[in-house]
Amino acid sequence: MSDTIEKIKSTSSFPLGEGRDGARKIFQWQMVELNKEFQLIESTLTGLKEGEALIKIAGCGVCHTDISFWHHGVQTKHALPLTLGHEISGVVVDGDEKWIGKKVIIPAVLPCGECELCKSGRSNICRNQLMPGNDFHGGFASHIVVPSKFLCPVPEKVLEKYSLEQLAVVADAISTPYQVIKKSELVPGDFAIVIGVGGVGIYGAQIAKIFGAKVLALDIDDEKLSVAKQNGVDATFNTKGMDAKAVKDKVKEIAKELKAPKFGWKIFEISGTKAGQDLAFNLITFASTLSIVGFTMDKVEVRLSNLMAFDAKLIGTWGCKPELYPEVVELVANGKLKIDQFVQTFPMSKINEVFRNTLEHKYTKRSVLVPDFSLTPTLSKREGVKK
Ligand SMILES: [Zn+2]
Ligand SMILES: [Zn+2]
Repeated sequence: MSDTIEKIKSTSSFPLGEGRDGARKIFQWQMVELNKEFQLIESTLTGLKEGEALIKIAGCGVCHTDISFWHHGVQTKHALPLTLGHEISGVVVDGDEKWIGKKVIIPAVLPCGECELCKSGRSNICRNQLMPGNDFHGGFASHIVVPSKFLCPVPEKVLEKYSLEQLAVVADAISTPYQVIKKSELVPGDFAIVIGVGGVGIYGAQIAKIFGAKVLALDIDDEKLSVAKQNGVDATFNTKGMDAKAVKDKVKEIAKELKAPKFGWKIFEISGTKAGQDLAFNLITFASTLSIVGFTMDKVEVRLSNLMAFDAKLIGTWGCKPELYPEVVELVANGKLKIDQFVQTFPMSKINEVFRNTLEHKYTKRSVLVPDFSLTPTLSKREGVKK
């Protein structure tokens, strides 16, 4: 694979076809129909609007949200055909002059910056927000057009450690757990319990650790738990087949061993499963804060009055506001948060294979697709890509 990547790098000056009236040729892998193969489309992009930037994509991560759109029938806001992908890094090649040539991460959710929610510091849930690969053509492409307002610049010192394409994961897989940890008001010395240490949870566990917590990771997959352990998590155990009471007893024991607080546990439900949510609620004790990060359509039956009895807090958290992105990049830049062993890159032309394998849970690492369009000969043409 590294050979292919090298080849791509060496052809990275892939011509941005300049046509008449400044029209540009771009390539996109588009979803045309539910569960069908993505199709390679060559399109012509005409003119940028004020406040927009044209970005040459370095990498775009494959998220479970993409799988939901492609396979599970979750509707995208923009009608099909649509280019999916919202975990994007790249270089600004046109638009607002002050951005040209800058290496950037595109926040997975782009707020308006003007509305009531944005102005009250809740821009991550701005109702006018735009999400690449959902509201408009996303990152499984050679280029993307986005509002330049909330782009996150990537400092050179990060690029000494990681390639720009690897940093695509900052856009979603890392920023989401970062906001969660901030919102939970985690402080040094806290006891953090992370339920589900997959693609997002593993970062949640590491960030909790960086913030000075004693961290316990719970999962039903030994391999994921061992990865968490290797990455500095204080304790782990597999909850498979255990009832909630038995898990809680064991968690208490571990808290004692770690000399972690008996109360005020910060619980993070990142598995997005009914079993995980059930367990998370059952772990609530006095002064606990439970953060719900994972998503499932399933319902759980709980006694909400436990919150009252325990004087506990239950919070939800969605995405990450762009204002926090530079802090996330800083964690990666100063070497506190390591990302390379959780990311694998593939040439973007392997998109159909990578999506299928992701659906079948064949990967343990986050997949990032790297544009390799100059290597792909057959194309179908369509004119006039609109945002
Ligand atoms: Zn995502
Ligand atoms: Zn807004």
